[in-house]
Amino acid sequence: MNTMKRRVGACLMALAMIVTMLPGLSITAKAATDYGLVVDYARVTSDRTSGDGWSYNPTTNTLTLNGYSYSKDGWVDGSYSGGIYAYSNLTIELIGNNSVDNTFSNAYCWNCGIYVKGSLTIKGNGSLTTKGGGDRVSYGIKANRLTVNSGTITALGKTARESNGIDISEDIIVNGGVITASAATSTEGDAFGIACRGSFTMNGGRVKATAENATGANRYSYGIWAIGTISNNGGVLSAEGKSYALYSGNNVYPEGYNGKDTTFQTYEDAASNMYVVSGVNNNGWSNREVKLTAASGYTIGKTASQFGSSISFTDATDNGSGIFYIKKNSNGTIYKGSISYKIDKTAPSVSGVKDGGVYCVSKEITVKDSHLAEVKDGSTVIATANGTYTLSAGTHNITVTDLAGNSTSMTVTINASHTPNEDDGDCTTAVTCKICGNVVTPAKEHNFILKSDQTGHWKECQNEGCEQTSAKEAHVSSGAATEDQAETCTVCGYTINAPLGHVCKNHLQKVDPVAATCTTEGHQAYYKCTCGKIYSDAEAQNETTESEVTIPANGHSYAESVYTWNEDNLTCTAVRTCKICNDRESEIGTAVTSVTPKDGCKSPEKTVYTVTFANSAFTAQTKEVITQEADAHTSSEWIVDKEATTAEAGSRHKECTVCRKVLETETIAKLASSKDNTKPSGKNDVDKKAADKKADVKPVSNVPKTGDTSHAGVWVMLMTAAVLSGICVILRRRRTI
Ligand SMILES: [Zn+2]
Ligand SMILES: [Zn+2]
Ligand SMILES: [Zn+2]
Ligand SMILES: [Zn+2]
Ligand SMILES: [Zn+2]
Ligand SMILES: [Zn+2]
Repeated sequence: MNTMKRRVGACLMALAMIVTMLPGLSITAKAATDYGLVVDYARVTSDRTSGDGWSYNPTTNTLTLNGYSYSKDGWVDGSYSGGIYAYSNLTIELIGNNSVDNTFSNAYCWNCGIYVKGSLTIKGNGSLTTKGGGDRVSYGIKANRLTVNSGTITALGKTARESNGIDISEDIIVNGGVITASAATSTEGDAFGIACRGSFTMNGGRVKATAENATGANRYSYGIWAIGTISNNGGVLSAEGKSYALYSGNNVYPEGYNGKDTTFQTYEDAASNMYVVSGVNNNGWSNREVKLTAASGYTIGKTASQFGSSISFTDATDNGSGIFYIKKNSNGTIYKGSISYKIDKTAPSVSGVKDGGVYCVSKEITVKDSHLAEVKDGSTVIATANGTYTLSAGTHNITVTDLAGNSTSMTVTINASHTPNEDDGDCTTAVTCKICGNVVTPAKEHNFILKSDQTGHWKECQNEGCEQTSAKEAHVSSGAATEDQAETCTVCGYTINAPLGHVCKNHLQKVDPVAATCTTEGHQAYYKCTCGKIYSDAEAQNETTESEVTIPANGHSYAESVYTWNEDNLTCTAVRTCKICNDRESEIGTAVTSVTPKDGCKSPEKTVYTVTFANSAFTAQTKEVITQEADAHTSSEWIVDKEATTAEAGSRHKECTVCRKVLETETIAKLASSKDNTKPSGKNDVDKKAADKKADVKPVSNVPKTGDTSHAGVWVMLMTAAVLSGICVILRRRRTI
């Protein structure tokens, strides 16, 4: 600020000096029009509007420098000296290369390469290098206001107590051109590449402002120093100071300057053919990185100091902007580019369901993404916006995609209905869904009814699926059952015992036993009920039947049958009589006769009577009777069968000469023999006695028996038959009577 005061003071002094000079000017004006401009150390007037390398157009107030070169002390007026000195506004047009070097070094002057006491406008295609003087102040350019439209301007302050490249009292506007403004070392004051007491505004062109050290106590070195704002709307700005690259009294800087750095640089815009952008989809989004690859002949970097073949922007952002620098390898020119990008690395969120999840009936899914593109179910787009959507029964392959191409996929199965957990058999607890936990069957109150069986009664819930029961309790009897009243439970009504109905025991009548006879049935004792049943016992325990208790008739017990032949043997009567009841059965059978005729002396005439009976109880009877005797045998003489010897007796017989029947046999006594005495006694005597004894006995016993005995038997038989026949006839008669 001390600097400011000093400068203001200096201006007042200069003004006073100019005022004192006015009478002189008016005198000169009478000779020629003075245009208030000094070029090449002489005033520009209507008589002098051009010189070596310069010309002035008063109409346009334009000084054209065309190959102008000036290097000597500047025009001094008041506190300023200038290689070109203008007393008011001036436009300088540059053609070719021009230089203005104020060599004036003075302890009291502001020694400027170009001094314009008004607004300075520079244009043209040429260049100008302008240098201030030395000692007190050295400014390359000093003006109230500066506008540069084109041209290449190099404004240098030399080492001085205060060195500035360009020092402007009000605003600076750069629309084009190339400006290089440099301050050398300032030994007392601040060093400014460009000092601007208004605002510095750049709309195009190139500005490079640098300052060497300000070596005075508490002095600073700035690339560009402005009381107002510093703005870079276009063009390339480069600033470097030993203290700060830029200083804005309003604290308004070009984008990218942090208020501290000693260097600041903007760059020419990178052209789109210098790099290739990849990683961005058709929607303008990237889901990973936005990659910038330098084109052939270029390298690229995120800073202006490090270059490579490519750079990437990877931070997720909806409106990212990236700065990059591209260096042209052939000449080292650095271009600056910016890129807007959108990176979304986050897949859409799908909530409400899980991948592979199984749900019931329907399910809502909530889809959320900051840049949702679409929601697909299979291949069908079901939504294109964030929201909650309902999935119906079925299998859904949900894919949610955002504009950047991130996607979230999941498969969800929606069952058409709930899957109930197994019922616990208690209706007072709800049945829930195995899948979703929802209540499928709400809890209820038990709906008990009494159930019963033979052994008791209990409560049982009637609600479907409920298996709850109370403990079984014994029936409470209403009293024993009677024939017409049941025994029931007074609690549940169960019929413990049905009405007994007809109880035979109560209605029995005893039937006494009856003995059987030969011809009639009897029965055992029994009990007969009014219902018709009969029992063998009074307790009606053993039911029986009439046939079982019946005792059959005994039947007759006949004695041996008695058969009685009639006298004529032509009938035979059979009789039998019951030993119990004297019942008598008889039958007269008629005989069938069979006659065997007489055969001379051999056999008599025999008649056989045979009677059979219809009653099988009687057996057939046969009777043989000699109805005519056989003729008598005609006996022969003795016929010796064996001659008697001395040792042995002989035998002889008589026989019928007709039938040869042996009628008579006889032993012939043993003959006497001389040999008897010669034979040893003893044993022989005994044998002889035995033989004699035999011979003696046999004839005696044999003779009378033969024939006699058999005749006697026949007679006995005949007699018996005769008697029996008589009896039969008698009996028959008696019965008939
Ligand atoms: Zn469920
Ligand atoms: Zn229940
Ligand atoms: Zn009961
Ligand atoms: Zn009965
Ligand atoms: Zn009988
Ligand atoms: Zn005979």
